[in-house]
Amino acid sequence: MSFRLDRWVTLKVVKPLVKDQPGAAPAIPILMYHAISDDIESVHPYYRTNTAPSVFALQMRQLKELGYYTISLEEAVGTIKAESRSAERVVVITFDDGYRDFYTVAAPVLKAHGFTATMFIPTAHINDTSARFKGRDCLTWREIRELESAGMQFGSHTVNHPQLHEIKDFQVQQELSQSKETMEQRLGTEIRSFAYPYAFPETDKAFVAKLRDRLMEAGYANGVCTMIGRADASNDPLFLKRLPINSCDDRELFAAKLAGAYDWLARPQYLLKRLKKGSGRPSTKGFKASISNA
Ligand SMILES: [Zn+2]
Repeated sequence: MSFRLDRWVTLKVVKPLVKDQPGAAPAIPILMYHAISDDIESVHPYYRTNTAPSVFALQMRQLKELGYYTISLEEAVGTIKAESRSAERVVVITFDDGYRDFYTVAAPVLKAHGFTATMFIPTAHINDTSARFKGRDCLTWREIRELESAGMQFGSHTVNHPQLHEIKDFQVQQELSQSKETMEQRLGTEIRSFAYPYAFPETDKAFVAKLRDRLMEAGYANGVCTMIGRADASNDPLFLKRLPINSCDDRELFAAKLAGAYDWLARPQYLLKRLKKGSGRPSTKGFKASISNA
């Protein structure tokens, strides 16, 4: 088993310092899932994006036991903006990439606990029959409509899941607007949420500012990215931080992440990206400072 510095620091150093602070400004855990399957990943646990169905079921049960209830992204943004100080434990559950196991495995577990979630889909990979994306089956429009009727929310994860940072501005505009239009035509509901594909280029301030304008122009109201931590008032509502979750999040680490003991990673994550940018390496390959492959 590979040594996990992030786990060690979280549990041994940060967790003992994190105190429940009633009356503190809200910091909301937004969980980031991808696939829910038994597939084995050979990369370091930090970079894995797969959660085994048995582990996912335990995590949902743990959320219930800890007294959490789920809210939508829109509600999360409202809570953060209003700085409503409440003792209630709220969580947002998100999934990226539109995999079909959301329908077959995750949704029944969520429903059993009375939880809802938001799934972000790359619309080019969603069809009337199940398409494949990154080697996995994708949801169909019929399944998405069924899930939506059952209370799940859907957001855009662009059309083609490109590195938005690497393509031209007019292409970025197309990715944002066409995915939204397609979803709205297919689902008949307004799409307001967006998830940035791949590692978020937070160190490129000019790009982030422009992307923000493009999202606003396209009509998005809230969004998430791969920056690590719980979402709070310091966060742009279009680029909310999330907590990456996978099969390696056992009871102890999962609880620590929810409580804020994983938030410290935002800083090294940012510094690694700065370092990478400064070294002139292309951001799409090589050094894994990208931290997550959402
Ligand atoms: Zn993705």
